[in-house]
Amino acid sequence: NKKVILKDYVVGFPKESDMILKTSETMTLKLPAGSNGLLVKNLYLSCDPYMRSRMTKTEGSYVESFTPGSPLTGYGVAKVLESGHANFKKGDLIWGFTGWEEYSIINAPEGLFKIEHTDVPLSYYTGILGMPGMTAYVGFYEICTPKKGEYVFVSAASGAVGQLVGQFAKLSGCYVVGSAGTKEKVDLLKNKFGFDEAFNYKEEQDLDAALKRYFPEGIDIYFENVGGRMLDAVLLNMRLDGRISVCGMISQYNLEQSEGVRNLFTLVTKRVTMKGFIVFDHYHKYPKYLEMIIPLIKNGTINYIEDIVEGLENAPAALIGLYSGKNVGKQVVVVAHE
Ligand code: NDP
Repeated sequence: NKKVILKDYVVGFPKESDMILKTSETMTLKLPAGSNGLLVKNLYLSCDPYMRSRMTKTEGSYVESFTPGSPLTGYGVAKVLESGHANFKKGDLIWGFTGWEEYSIINAPEGLFKIEHTDVPLSYYTGILGMPGMTAYVGFYEICTPKKGEYVFVSAASGAVGQLVGQFAKLSGCYVVGSAGTKEKVDLLKNKFGFDEAFNYKEEQDLDAALKRYFPEGIDIYFENVGGRMLDAVLLNMRLDGRISVCGMISQYNLEQSEGVRNLFTLVTKRVTMKGFIVFDHYHKYPKYLEMIIPLIKNGTINYIEDIVEGLENAPAALIGLYSGKNVGKQVVVVAHE
């Protein structure tokens, strides 16, 4: 059983060498007697930005820290090899929390989702049909409450969540602009995902001026994925009664101390609502989301891009690549093809 182990807690920017690949020959592919868990074969693993916070020892966070010396855990797609739980049986495909290893024993399978639609790529359950898809759905439709004709800005727009938010905004009749870190990503936003405009934030000295160029009348909705100086620039451009959906702040995850935000007074003057959310609180809406999204995937209304690497040995590089923008689209690691 090959596994990706966290060596020790990480300070600053994570490196590939913070994780090691270990092979243990001792694992017997069997559930312990009396277990009401599952033995699964992992197929796809999801690389997600929040995993950085789990590499630091934190208490009272919404997710537990990883344990140094043990495999990382995260979202994935797996096949049930043996089940001690009444809700699952051998051969079922599931998505949810699993280990960064070839085979895992999942002791509390209640939080897993059984995969019912298998006529779409299974890897989609790490993204558009899984946690990031639900994040875009809840974060945009519920937190942003979009109205036709509104001006929407999305940062980290080509990523797992951002590419969907932009397309949901177009479906809602909004004008949408995205920012991303390379020309290739900017082209994708405009040509593949249907954003009205897009720009490379790394080429803009003055983000406030860039936003004024794309939003001469200001921004009604900001879908916040990055934080830092982008948030400060957006605050200067919000319109009256605007909404900011605070999904994440990836530019801050590797800093020992977060950058300050200077322009918060805009919330007062422009009567802006800024609201954070965590997708975990919203999984009861998953069936409703699937009902909406599956037909949109099948009829080609929604486009979706994944960045797929093969092999657990390439998982550490894939994960840390998120923090330098190496991924183009949703970052997935293939552990095994079914
Ligand atoms: P992505 O697929 O978008 O990958 C991360 C991207 O972030 C990179 O490709 C890179 O793109 C961009 N990035 C990295 N570092 C920086 C930086 N310093 N400044 C600006 N951009 C940067 O990730 P996801 O779509 O999975 O996640 C997007 C956001 O949503 C994250 O903040 C994440 O934490 C958050 N999230 C929140 C959830 C919740 O429940 N609230 C659930 C899931 C995700 P580029 O080339 O454009 O720089």
